[in-house]
Amino acid sequence: MMLSKDSQESNFKIPKIKFTQLFINGEFVDSVSGKTFETIDPRNEEVIARIAEGDEEDIDLAVKAAREAFDHGPWPRLTPKERRRIMLKFADLILEHVKEIAVLDTMDAGKLFSAIKTIEIPNVADVLCYYAGATDKIHGTTLKMSGEIQGYTLLEPIGVVGHIIPWNFPSQMFAYKVAPALAAGCTMVVKPAEQSPLSALYYAYLAKQAGIPDGVINVVTGFGPTAGAALSSHMDVDKITFTGSTEVGHLVMQAAATSNLKPGSLEMGGKCPFIVFDDVDVDKIASLAFVGAIYNKGEGCVCGSRLFIQEAIYDKFVKKLEETAKTWVVGDPFDPNTRHGPQIDKIQFEKVLSYIEHGKREGATLLTGGNALDRKGYFIEPTIFIDVEDDMIIAKEEIFGPVLSVMKFKTVEEVIKRANCTKYGLAAGVMTKDLNIANTVSRSIRAGVIWINCYFAFDPDCPYGGYKCSGFERDLGMEGLHKFLQVKSVATPIYNSPWL
Ligand code: NAD
Repeated sequence: MMLSKDSQESNFKIPKIKFTQLFINGEFVDSVSGKTFETIDPRNEEVIARIAEGDEEDIDLAVKAAREAFDHGPWPRLTPKERRRIMLKFADLILEHVKEIAVLDTMDAGKLFSAIKTIEIPNVADVLCYYAGATDKIHGTTLKMSGEIQGYTLLEPIGVVGHIIPWNFPSQMFAYKVAPALAAGCTMVVKPAEQSPLSALYYAYLAKQAGIPDGVINVVTGFGPTAGAALSSHMDVDKITFTGSTEVGHLVMQAAATSNLKPGSLEMGGKCPFIVFDDVDVDKIASLAFVGAIYNKGEGCVCGSRLFIQEAIYDKFVKKLEETAKTWVVGDPFDPNTRHGPQIDKIQFEKVLSYIEHGKREGATLLTGGNALDRKGYFIEPTIFIDVEDDMIIAKEEIFGPVLSVMKFKTVEEVIKRANCTKYGLAAGVMTKDLNIANTVSRSIRAGVIWINCYFAFDPDCPYGGYKCSGFERDLGMEGLHKFLQVKSVATPIYNSPWL
């Protein structure tokens, strides 16, 4: 691991934060209580800004605005063409403001400035464009009814939606939830994570500039157990979507079930297997495996944090992983040379370090890293454990930090069984040139996304979500749109039906 040197970008001055209030019914407003909370820069533990702290009353005001916009406002009633035009304008405005938004996510979440600027925020615009293009492709079916009745289905927007999003990809998570809900004709209340509220407020501002009517997108910043819980249990929210931990997913579903039985869509944790067979190009796949585990400082639910390597190439592969870790630059995420910035906050930082201690105590061999950097901020070295056993805590629990657990396997049957031995089922990687093995393994792994000879191959058209405790329903793709639609069946007698 290397330390980043200061560069021009890393010395930049923190800009004045423009939006720190709640966004309700098209206006930036203080919270009813007047309370605020600090959002902290994980690079230096300093306060970036004070943000309005929304709670139950603010959620209620936001839901009322969304309800009014849904029941009486123009958005659900616009022609698809008009809705598409406004969504495309929104995407264009985002592209015009990439740098400003990227600065916010880097300061708030310690994310790599270069990656957000060139990949993540352009992806937000892509997702909006994808769903803008879907607005006029929402149609039902003609039914083959028996008897003298004609029937068809209509797909109608589900209504007012609550979106609860996490901090690790603040921009993309906003887009994955908001863009399809907009295309469907829904109105919504977004509750960003308390650690990274800034970009969601900026998107709300741009949405208004683009012509999205007041009340359609409302953003209530605040904490999970207060604002988040109030949104999940609100009687006038018709659907709740959530991305976050499995633990909180349970709470969200309980609140949804015990309030108005609203349906939920959950994207939750992962402990994804990355499986490498012995016919691969070791240098290439070892680099991919390393990035697959450590990208975004391991703060990714799809990170391939359980690496299974077939025994014939195990030693060579491990050596290459070690070499890659040595060249990995940890430091200020504004520095273009940095590959890995600070963990999101003190809580997550300490949690990751405690998992590293568990790994050492349980007898895994520490190959690289294992320490926090001796500087201000929440920086942790990329950490690789080898000789990891399936029943060790570091092999079972989601660490959500730059920690890779490496395991050896012999056969296809064995690795399928071991890879599936987890409560999670989000994603998996299968690396082999053997088509038969690739097909067998990809069909046998119980996970919502399988990447063969690639990793993190996201696309707006590719549905994404989990099996088992990783969740249900999908973001992205047409599945990501259909979860915001409901089916209405219409039947009417024809010819000489006895109904007439
Ligand atoms: P978290 O579950 O603590 O928080 C996620 C969101 O839920 C935040 O907005 C938070 O304020 C809110 N929240 C917290 N308590 C709540 C409550 N009682 N009621 C309603 N909302 C509440 O998760 P986190 O620590 O912010 O994020 C890390 C977790 O998210 C990891 O487990 C990770 O795997 C998961 N994650 C999953 C995906 C995915 O797509 N599957 C993506 C990103 C993160």
